[in-house]
Amino acid sequence: MRLLVLAETPQVISFAQQWAAVTGGSFVVAAPEGATADGLVALMKSEGCDSLAGASTSLGRDLLARAAGLLNLSMISDVLSVESRDGRLTLTRPMYAGNVLARVRTLGDVGVYSVRSAAFALPEPSAPEPIQIPTHTTPGCEVLSLDAPKQKRPELAQARVVVSGGRPTRDAATFEKLIGGLADALGGATGATRAAVDAEIAPNELQVGQTGKVVAPDLYIAAGVSGSIQHLAGMKDSKVIVAINTDPDAPIFEIADYGLVADIHQAIPELIGKL
Ligand SMILES: Cc1cc2nc3c(=O)[nH]c(=O)nc-3n(C[C@H](O)[C@H](O)[C@H](O)COP(=O)(O)OP(=O)(O)OC[C@H]3O[C@@H](n4cnc5c(N)ncnc54)[C@H](O)[C@@H]3O)c2cc1C
Repeated sequence: MRLLVLAETPQVISFAQQWAAVTGGSFVVAAPEGATADGLVALMKSEGCDSLAGASTSLGRDLLARAAGLLNLSMISDVLSVESRDGRLTLTRPMYAGNVLARVRTLGDVGVYSVRSAAFALPEPSAPEPIQIPTHTTPGCEVLSLDAPKQKRPELAQARVVVSGGRPTRDAATFEKLIGGLADALGGATGATRAAVDAEIAPNELQVGQTGKVVAPDLYIAAGVSGSIQHLAGMKDSKVIVAINTDPDAPIFEIADYGLVADIHQAIPELIGKL
């Protein structure tokens, strides 16, 4: 058995190392730059791979599902752990916004897997060097340039501290001042609820939750966040959760380790001033 790993996050390599320990197979690492589904399939063929894995990111979700279709292989998304059960490769994945954990297998133990990076540790240093994916063009589509947006903060899914803002942050400038300001004071990343994204207060790539990113930082500060089940699905595994909310009955306080019943427009500038 041989696995191709699209190494968009280092934790996917940990998944591959565990996969190899369970299956006795080997794995090849592909660099994510310029990856396309066609390119991944071509690389799998040239490297003799029968399974494919990558991170559950926007890119991974997009490419891996397409590749699974091209390969006619089963896809298991949001893998949380790998184990051997009855001598078979068995994976755990969440269902119903993380309320149920399902143990699943594919036919013949081959498949396409998207992996939740937050559920895996950083890899052992013995990981092989990544190889380049051959350039493939999608019919009818010409790539003119690829520009990565400049990040002034840590990547949301990898950050050790995440400060998230909800609807009461009101507008993009206030979000940046309060949520961005507190994140910068703590060296962390910013996140947002879907309500804040829908109201164009925060960009889509900052959304945390069931239909956004899944994070598990050491510290998660939820500011003006109600704590809907869809938001909790993306952050409930954070090690320490701090909630700031004017409503003492807000559901976020049920999972918070520390709670502050306060207005974010007053409390956050005070917090930033003290840091
Ligand atoms: C299929 C589906 C998928 C979804 N996926 C996601 C997802 O991935 N991520 C996500 O976040 N949501 C998701 N949602 C939306 C989710 O249900 C909630 O609507 C959303 O999370 C609410 O965002 P919010 O907490 O910012 O807003 P609100 O629900 O409006 O809550 C705002 C909170 O701020 C408090 N507050 C108000 N003013 C202040 C103030 N000045 N200071 C402090 N606190 C204040 C209020 O008491 C309240 O608790 C999804 C919904 C559906 C149906």
